[in-house]
Amino acid sequence: MNIPAELNLGLSWNNRFTQLGKSFYTHLRPTPLPNVHWVSCNHALAREMGFEPDFFDSPQLLDALSGNGVIKGSSPLASVYSGHQFGHWAGQLGDGRALYLGEIQTTNGSVELQLKGAGKTPYSRSGDGRAVLRSSIREYLCSEAMHALSIPTTRALSITGSKGIVYREEVETAAVVARVSPSFIRFGHFEHFSANGETENLKQLADFVINEYSDVLTRQNEIALTHENDIAKEVENNKYARLLLQVVIKTAKLIANWQSVGFCHGVMNTDNMSILGLTIDYGPFQFMDNFDVNHICNHSDHSGRYAYGQQPNIGLWNLYCLGQSLLPLIADKDLTVKCLEFYKEAFSESMLQLSLKKLGFNENIDHPDISSLVPKINSIIQMQGADFTVFWRTLSHCVSHSTGPHDLLAFDKISEMLKHENARSLWLDFLPTYLNLLSKSDQTNEQIGLNMLKINPKFVLRNHLGETAIKKAQAGDFSEVDILLKILTTPYDEHEAYDDYANPPPDWAKSISISCSS
Ligand code: AMP
Ligand code: MG
Repeated sequence: MNIPAELNLGLSWNNRFTQLGKSFYTHLRPTPLPNVHWVSCNHALAREMGFEPDFFDSPQLLDALSGNGVIKGSSPLASVYSGHQFGHWAGQLGDGRALYLGEIQTTNGSVELQLKGAGKTPYSRSGDGRAVLRSSIREYLCSEAMHALSIPTTRALSITGSKGIVYREEVETAAVVARVSPSFIRFGHFEHFSANGETENLKQLADFVINEYSDVLTRQNEIALTHENDIAKEVENNKYARLLLQVVIKTAKLIANWQSVGFCHGVMNTDNMSILGLTIDYGPFQFMDNFDVNHICNHSDHSGRYAYGQQPNIGLWNLYCLGQSLLPLIADKDLTVKCLEFYKEAFSESMLQLSLKKLGFNENIDHPDISSLVPKINSIIQMQGADFTVFWRTLSHCVSHSTGPHDLLAFDKISEMLKHENARSLWLDFLPTYLNLLSKSDQTNEQIGLNMLKINPKFVLRNHLGETAIKKAQAGDFSEVDILLKILTTPYDEHEAYDDYANPPPDWAKSISISCSS
């Protein structure tokens, strides 16, 4: 394969990660792919980053984002990290197929650009350094769908495809996702240096994150927590404990967000946990169709370690690994545990605030029953085995059409969904309490329903939607990827022409099985 050419795209680079030095990464060039082509270009993200409308028109950019050229000013490297996988120490891992290109200066500040699937690195172990088209489409669409749902995440600028062959369970073709994030640093980066007893490097990494990313770590994504300031006082004189606390809070908020839309990550290993509390490394993830707290989306997860209902606990388990790694710097075990234990409060409060939003209430509503409402509704959905997204969207419409505390008829569509006798009777018991609560709000039901329609999406990336786009793309037609990108990035709009995309999966979709293979 040819050595990649240097491409001058006129981008302005910063590349702060390279300041960390050689213990943190290996410089290397991407490995070119044959016959590359665009699969999808995220024009909206390019616009947000301040690029011109013709940004993707350049053949040089196609080469650059496929790893067939090195962009002038970039500094390609693969970083080293370690991690716990499925509860066990896995030792050294690292960017086995993702290549950091550097940090671009955009109108929205600096963002790192990574190519996922750009060839082997010193950390590839037995892997081939490649990503298949199928998983690249899933990652691309899901990161943008999550962003549109206001869930912190890495982003995706493009997918390029190639005729290059990749061997998985079947013969597939290679693709590259250009990922964008303020930083791709993971819990596993800290675990790596801590486990190796490299305290100076550990300190350097922690200082780097504190100095360069405190704006991201302290930025409140919508929710401010009541006791955040009290605990923040306790860590005032220990900057490493403060870092841990910030990551604890970010992670708690992130996972509360996942729970609230029925998202299962699937592989919450510590190397897949972002230090900035972003959703990262989309693998066998799933937005649940039928609601089930025990739902396991990853067919390689035999014990259900990463089942939907386990995600909040696993978040804390992973934070304990991070806390353990930071202990040599924090040098205060009690304070470390205190920061970690704040997770439970941060998670429940985030959950409560997201639940209030999901129910369309504003903060003025204060009622002892509020915190039990979402769990109660979810238990009815679970009892019926109903579709999570459809149920909440239907409920939102019903509330918006209801006229007052006696308008039981407005909720007929919900009753129709509840064929199971127990689910139906639970609902009929619950409805009067719910209507009563709605009437206590200072907003009309119509207003509450409209609020709900802005937080309960009509469209999520269901496995079968992804599968249809993948099958077409594998046959050379990429139009469905762009259609999904459009709908999933405006998931609260009605898009009447695409009503079918909001439906629960058809029968054929039962056979879809998503594993770690990607
Ligand atoms: P994941 O579970 O996908 O986050 O991957 C776990 C580790 O395996 C990471 O270090 C990845 O970089 C690496 N990895 C996964 N797939 C490949 C591949 N095809 N080639 C090289 N490394 C890989
Ligand atoms: Mg990973």
